[in-house]
Amino acid sequence: MDAPNKSRLAANLARVRARIDAACARAKRDPRDVTLVAVTKSVGPELTEQLLELGVTDIGENRLQAAQDKFPLIPALQLRKKVTRHFIGHLQTNKVRPVLEMFDVIHSVDTVKLAEEISKRSVQAQKEISCFLELNVSGEDSKEGMPPQEANAALEHLAKLPHIRWLGLMTMAPLGAKVELVRRVFRDLRECAGQASSTGLLPRPASLSMGMSNDFEIAIEEGATHVRVGTALFEGLHP
Ligand SMILES: *Cc1c(COP(=O)(O)O)cnc(C)c1O
Repeated sequence: MDAPNKSRLAANLARVRARIDAACARAKRDPRDVTLVAVTKSVGPELTEQLLELGVTDIGENRLQAAQDKFPLIPALQLRKKVTRHFIGHLQTNKVRPVLEMFDVIHSVDTVKLAEEISKRSVQAQKEISCFLELNVSGEDSKEGMPPQEANAALEHLAKLPHIRWLGLMTMAPLGAKVELVRRVFRDLRECAGQASSTGLLPRPASLSMGMSNDFEIAIEEGATHVRVGTALFEGLHP
């Protein structure tokens, strides 16, 4: 990678970290309780490698095929340096087995059927997988995710599935919505998680995967523990 790209990436990362820190300060939260998941879906192996060298510990991809093509080309991943790999995209049941081989955390479990398949395959692979249940809080037709009013009943069943460690809930705010609506979506997710935690169906406190480049500061103010940030890290770079 050329030097301008490299320094630009470092500056972008520093700016995102500073914005995370500032949002934590406003919310009186410890920045160590917020994991930056760098979403590398729009860039190649070189920039991903560079991010890991800059100290990023968590990367997110939304397509299996892209990860299968890219991960073998990232030396820092091959060296088994401690990097947590997050799968954040829509997952079909027939792709569960390879996703379990390549990823440590799945953020996008959106149906009971998918969770059952993940559990079955994890038992077969003798691997424990960390998962978020994805909720469609905003109720948009275009969004994946379980309706929030079904989450508690579903979790009664899901919490018993072997080899899945439920971390918490995930959602996406409506694109381009007003700040107040975005905030309400994140707050609703937190309240859903709080209910499930209080009945022992999720850990207490539960993790909350919410917030992207456009809204991660609002998400942190509303309790996000995992922000999934892509665009803001790669602005002005040539992938
Ligand atoms: C692409 C993507 C992100 C990152 O979005 P940016 O706006 O690029 O930060 C986060 N979450 C999911 C599920 C995504 O697909």
